[in-house]
Amino acid sequence: MKNKMKKILVTGGAGFIGSHLCKSLLRESYEVYCLDNYLTGHKKNIKNLLKNKNFKLIEQDVRTSIDIEVDEIYHLACPASPKAYKESPVLTMQIALLGTMKMLDLAKKYKAKIFFASTSEVYGTPEVSPQNEAYLGKVDLWGNRSCYNESKRMGEALCYNYAREYSLDIRVGRIFNTYGPHMDEDDGRVVSNFINQALKKYSLTLYGDGNQTRSFCYIDDMVGAIRALMDSTKGANTPVNLGNPEEITIKQLASQICKLTETNERFLFEIMEGDDPIQRRPDISKAKELLKWEPKVKLEEGLVLTIDYFKNSSIQ
Ligand code: UDP
Repeated sequence: MKNKMKKILVTGGAGFIGSHLCKSLLRESYEVYCLDNYLTGHKKNIKNLLKNKNFKLIEQDVRTSIDIEVDEIYHLACPASPKAYKESPVLTMQIALLGTMKMLDLAKKYKAKIFFASTSEVYGTPEVSPQNEAYLGKVDLWGNRSCYNESKRMGEALCYNYAREYSLDIRVGRIFNTYGPHMDEDDGRVVSNFINQALKKYSLTLYGDGNQTRSFCYIDDMVGAIRALMDSTKGANTPVNLGNPEEITIKQLASQICKLTETNERFLFEIMEGDDPIQRRPDISKAKELLKWEPKVKLEEGLVLTIDYFKNSSIQ
């Protein structure tokens, strides 16, 4: 008898990470249901997937009810760039909370395994570096990132409590800064901003003195991490940091992008918002041990691929 094809729902499937995840799942001949309402995602990100007969598009808000029998849910739908969530804080909270409850209820109904896209923002402005999963974070519920970081903390808490009360099989990935093709040119994130500014020969906008740090993970590595977490039994019901621990300052990133785009360094220093974390770097020991995963793509290599993507998308 033919094996039943695994059905997988990806919420936020037309977004930056979601679209790469759908593509990767389709390589395994799964039936992939992509749910998106293009709030921050784009149809162009999934254009090449639409021809695949195993790809099903559901153009819907994640806050509304959906009833399809699936085996696995990757729940990514939520505005995730600081610019996007600060512009619509209440909507972000509704999506993060109501959307997550809907997906947990769906997982409960069909006994599906569910991956929840959490974030390094749950650590707020960390007092320890690198951040490991045992660190409880320093989050300001009054700050203007609270719509996102507090909602994601609540989302995680919902996951753990659904798991406790209803024996759900959940996977929680705390996603650190990720970059690559399909990033939105206008979402205000540092990698897309700097590359597009450099390609247009504009000054690069540095918020603050540019000495704040981040650690950037290339999209292919991140998709590998998310899938490894979903597929491993070892990472169940506990948070796992997913990211690249190579830490650099924002000023170093700006210089590297100028070098790779062959543009002169011209920086415009702008005011940094108070809730902007000064330092961020994941401790990925847990992911390495449980998932046997670690990032492979070096920053320079990933930036070259991302620069090529933006160069080509401006010609289209
Ligand atoms: N940043 C910057 N210039 C920009 C965009 C961002 O200096 O044009 C800084 C921002 O202040 C933050 C870091 O780059 O310290 C990363 O910002 P991003 O919005 O990519 O993500 P975050 O890690 O803050 O969520």
